[in-house]
Amino acid sequence: MTPKIQQWLALCDQLERVYRARDHPGVDAAFLALATFDHILTISERMTARLARWARDTPHEPLPKAAERAWWGRCLCHVCAVARTSSIHHTTLRK
Ligand SMILES: [Zn+2]
Repeated sequence: MTPKIQQWLALCDQLERVYRARDHPGVDAAFLALATFDHILTISERMTARLARWARDTPHEPLPKAAERAWWGRCLCHVCAVARTSSIHHTTLRK
């Protein structure tokens, strides 16, 4: 596992910890840290990170189908979410 994937998992774990502790400012900060890091990863690194998490946390569960896993490559950050939404709107408008 690459250091990038390890760091992604650590940020994910941190988010889960503060979420369980109901530490709301902590959740916001932890989510921002995870999303900011997610943004610098490539699509394939994001997929690898999520696969690594699945394999680690739910080793006995079968993987979701490839079609359902397709969104695993998407960046979590706000900027990319907005960009995706607006490109969907553009596509819809053009049709
Ligand atoms: Zn992004």
